[in-house]
Amino acid sequence: MEKLVSLCKRKGFIFQSSGIYGGINGCWDFGPLGVELKRNLKEHWWYTFVLSRDDMVGLDASIIMHPQVWVASGHVDEFHDILVDCKECKKRFRQDHIEGDRCPECGGELSEPRAFNSMLRTRMGVSEDTAVETYLRPETCQSIFVDFKEVCSSYRVKIPFGIAQIGKSFRNEVNPRNFIFRSREFEQMEIEFFCREEEAAAWFDRWRQEIWNWYRDIGLREENMRWYEHPKETLAHYSRRTVDVEYEFPFGWGELQGLANRGVYDLSQHSRHSGKDLSFFDVEKNERYVPTVIEPSAGADRTVLAILCDAYHEETVKDELRVVMRFAPKLAPIKAAVLPLVKKDGLAEIAVDLEKRLRRKFTTYYDHAGAIGRRYRRQDEIGTPFCICVDHQTKEDETVTVRHRDSMEQERVAMAEVDAYVLKRVSIRDVC
Ligand code: ATP
Repeated sequence: MEKLVSLCKRKGFIFQSSGIYGGINGCWDFGPLGVELKRNLKEHWWYTFVLSRDDMVGLDASIIMHPQVWVASGHVDEFHDILVDCKECKKRFRQDHIEGDRCPECGGELSEPRAFNSMLRTRMGVSEDTAVETYLRPETCQSIFVDFKEVCSSYRVKIPFGIAQIGKSFRNEVNPRNFIFRSREFEQMEIEFFCREEEAAAWFDRWRQEIWNWYRDIGLREENMRWYEHPKETLAHYSRRTVDVEYEFPFGWGELQGLANRGVYDLSQHSRHSGKDLSFFDVEKNERYVPTVIEPSAGADRTVLAILCDAYHEETVKDELRVVMRFAPKLAPIKAAVLPLVKKDGLAEIAVDLEKRLRRKFTTYYDHAGAIGRRYRRQDEIGTPFCICVDHQTKEDETVTVRHRDSMEQERVAMAEVDAYVLKRVSIRDVC
């Protein structure tokens, strides 16, 4: 984990928020490479679960909502962590994160457990007396339920169908830790899938398979993943059944995504609290009912962390350590580096022109500094799947070498065809 955190900082994937002021706990910034990796991940998710399906639509709702939303959802009453304080070192812990009855840091005596609401509060409005107290959303899904009626009446949907959303969520986590695994500001990728009660179990199983396939598709190794079924006694108040996909991080198994059968809880609650009918009229069946909800809920940041952990490889090549990030090419932040073998003999000019042409189609990087072997290593460390080298033969026959990150093998490709060659191997969408 230390090696990975250091690589992320050194190479500009992820660094602490507000670092020059000493940082702020539980908040992280995605640098030039991190932002591309995360954008690719979210785009891949959106393409897989929204654009390429005919039973899904998207939504991008506001982060701050009417405070009543959180009363209806149960968050004001239920969204509590049970905390204990160490009387010696004064550190605070979530009770369900510690074993035994002593402080895990110093062995000191612990206080009685207390409930703590994990929502971040904020005040909205310009004058003190009229400002409304509300919350930064702790999950993205509530806006999907609240907007259910709008979506149904404005867009042609019929059950079964789902609404997807990617967006920021905020939780006042007691112990933000394990790098970006548990932070206070993070991004979620959530789906609420609305179906008939009698079809819910079958949809649950279908989504279970879809989720697993997606993790495989983004390159996570199956031996590092497993399912965890929540026992009935520990289910959240809204859930009839929940299973989590867990990933084996260097610090142990951790949840990547939850899949829950939320029943009719949320739509019924919002219906009751808002006074608006949130049932669905099924024209074909001539029947009105409140649909059952199957919810796959994933964290974008945790998935990025799993991808980074899974991609990190060290190997010895010619007595030297090679660090290589084996990202799935469609997620890699930089798709191709363009490198002149040497700067002189007009090779740099050809490479600069080629890079300019390619950067309109996918992310590229131009580098002429240092020996070619060093430059290849620098690209390996940031997971660039292809290095395109312009050499003396390029001037003779207009071909370049394409060097593959994982096998380190090289092949000659016509310069005019190198765009299509790379594009075919890195595209998130199916390209013909
Ligand atoms: P945990 O038990 O780890 O606190 P949770 O069960 O409360 O997580 P959910 O409410 O199911 O999490 O949220 C759905 C997803 O959102 C999680 O699977 C995770 O990927 C992500 N997520 C939740 N809390 C955080 C956080 N503090 N930091 C980063 N990602 C988070």
